[in-house]
Amino acid sequence: MVTTANGRNGHAGRKYDALYARYSSHAQDDGTSIAVQIESCERAAGKPLKHFIDQAKTGRTTGGRTELLRLMEEAEAGRINKLYVYKYDRLGRAAETHVLVEDLEQHGVEVVSVTEGTNALARGVQLVVAADYSRVLAERTRAGLVQRHREGCWTGGPPPYGYRIVQSDDGKKRLAVHEEEAETVRFIFETYLAESIGLKEVARRVRARGVPTRLGGPWGFGTIRSILTNAMLIGEVRYLRRCFKLDRNTGRRVPRWSDEDRHVVNRDESLRIIDDETFERAQAQLAANRVNRPREAKEVRPFTRHLFCAGCGNVFYARKSANSKGAYRYYACGHRQSHGPEACDNRASLREDKLLARVQEAMSAVFDDMDGVLDEVAAMASEALEANRSETTRLKGEIAEADKFIGNLTRLLADPDIEAGAKKAIARQLAEHEGKREELRQALEAVAVQSVADMDDLMADCRQAFLEAKANFAGLMTPAQVNRFVAEVVGPMTVLPDGRVVQKENAATTEEVVAAGIVRGR
Ligand SMILES: [Zn+2]
Repeated sequence: MVTTANGRNGHAGRKYDALYARYSSHAQDDGTSIAVQIESCERAAGKPLKHFIDQAKTGRTTGGRTELLRLMEEAEAGRINKLYVYKYDRLGRAAETHVLVEDLEQHGVEVVSVTEGTNALARGVQLVVAADYSRVLAERTRAGLVQRHREGCWTGGPPPYGYRIVQSDDGKKRLAVHEEEAETVRFIFETYLAESIGLKEVARRVRARGVPTRLGGPWGFGTIRSILTNAMLIGEVRYLRRCFKLDRNTGRRVPRWSDEDRHVVNRDESLRIIDDETFERAQAQLAANRVNRPREAKEVRPFTRHLFCAGCGNVFYARKSANSKGAYRYYACGHRQSHGPEACDNRASLREDKLLARVQEAMSAVFDDMDGVLDEVAAMASEALEANRSETTRLKGEIAEADKFIGNLTRLLADPDIEAGAKKAIARQLAEHEGKREELRQALEAVAVQSVADMDDLMADCRQAFLEAKANFAGLMTPAQVNRFVAEVVGPMTVLPDGRVVQKENAATTEEVVAAGIVRGR
């Protein structure tokens, strides 16, 4: 369905029609050249258009879409009337595209896909699904966590330093203070606050006491910092500290999240190891001495700032590496990357695509649930269809009844034994019934217009969107969006020298269900 230009922009003054073209290297793409895209758009428009073209830049997966940004600026300034694209996916990945198109439409731009048309129904459904899919995912995860939280039980992962897991009478696992570790925690706070020393020096003094770490590795400043900042030490059990937020200022078009900060804080005095005042003083001193922060990564990758080194506590940086099979991204200890092997002996390096596959795997339970949701939608749709059918049947029955009545009246009119006066009354009745019949016939037509085909299309679109999401969860989001997602459902992780990934000790969100699935890993 190709919409042709109809010159509706005449009254809009300086508004113009434009096209956006981009070379996409998607596997399912036929590699439509920029030239073909331009030609198709201008043929559909029936005139030359202003071009916004992002050329493929080799070796760059994100960025390199400066023309798209310029286009958005033009749209926001109200200068664009119609925007033609070869396919909607030229604008970006699915979820992103839906939001982009929605934004463009809010700025009064009519977006036309010359190969897909402006099928509002299909796109509307995709839009809802894309937004809902992200929201539902977050909601479900959150709901599950809150539920467990209410039950006050500990379901997975190592407990934060200073705590151990105990089995209560009802068989549920709960946290309790680990007395020996609590001793070390108090020593760390006292040492840090007594003198103006750094975290490394604190680590050295803990080592000197001969205290082992949980994982048997050396005490690093990262471990010390995570203990000093763990609010569980003052009896706070905190879940879902991070929240998805829509950040319009950065230009990132992300699915719409609720802006409410819905973290849950439980107070449990039985878990207290440090008094409030000591804890606050430590936070103040940490803030004042914040010099050893890892330098901000230039590009946000899915696991940026989520992986920490078990050896030195430093954050793992993403780096690119190419071999004959293609380019991969790896994560390795940032300290080791910057200062060489003598700085840290953790040689572990993790492939980004494999980590993403684990996230995907851990999410499969959620998607299986989504299949249930889809079935519900299908049930509702067929119910509506059924209602349609019974209405059709009812109307047809009434029409048949009316036909019978009209037939009888017509026969009476033809009966020579009936006198003229009576026939006049019969003729009035006949006219009345014929009017009623016509009404019924129109009602039947109206029901038929809501055709079965519409319903089938709707379901097919829904199913397609879900399958797409299930098959390529990470592919639907930008790396920055995946990064936020990982922050929300997994939280910080520690990478052991043998390449295993465990939940970061002292992370107050250790309990997270999904994380357990990822961290268990292979
Ligand atoms: Zn390291």
